[in-house]
Amino acid sequence: MNTVIPEAAVASPDRLRLTEIFLSLQGESRSIGWPTVFVRLTGCPLRCQYCDTAYAFHGGQWWETDAILAEVARHGARHVCVTGGEPLAQKRCIGLLKQLCDAGYEVSLETSGAIDISDVDLRVSRVLDIKTPGSLEAHRNLWSNLPLLTPHDQVKFVVCSRDDYEWARGIVAEHRLPDTCDVLFSPSFSQLKPSDLADWIVADRLPVRFQLQLHKILWNDEPGR
Ligand code: SF4
Repeated sequence: MNTVIPEAAVASPDRLRLTEIFLSLQGESRSIGWPTVFVRLTGCPLRCQYCDTAYAFHGGQWWETDAILAEVARHGARHVCVTGGEPLAQKRCIGLLKQLCDAGYEVSLETSGAIDISDVDLRVSRVLDIKTPGSLEAHRNLWSNLPLLTPHDQVKFVVCSRDDYEWARGIVAEHRLPDTCDVLFSPSFSQLKPSDLADWIVADRLPVRFQLQLHKILWNDEPGR
């Protein structure tokens, strides 16, 4: 369900630009299926060719951090996912993540993998994309993020083709990613047949988790669901 977002009353450095806050089911990652409050921050410096949240590139409204926390609490869910856009493109996101953890939520962060994660609170489960060549943004991968990952984090590849799959398989092996955290492979929606990706993973006994985005199956990717 979409939530009407009030304009912040006064200017303040303690505020973030938001596209939406809504309650839904987590559609991917280790927390898949949990009722979750999504805090979608506005803006992203990347332009992945398959992006399904381009509506979050611009616009949005300024929210005081206290107002965000109150709106999250109003929804009454234990899980909170801070997403975008690229949430870390707004520096104040680091403080918001800490405050959500302090308030006792199970917090996850969906990030493009292009921005340094070293300041993110370690209580946050960081879901870090590694951009494949098929995304057209692979040159943005910040490889220095990988040694910062812990078993609490997750790495995600959106795979667009067989070439992408082989590239991703090579990165998984080169960086020994499954020794550190969960590794998620998803097919790029409408670009790769899910059963092809599933067959390749099984044939290779690849130590990664196949995922389909639940919200696209349930609600055909409507914004706010
Ligand atoms: S990083 Fe995410 S939000 Fe940004 S363009 Fe890529 S898919 Fe879209």
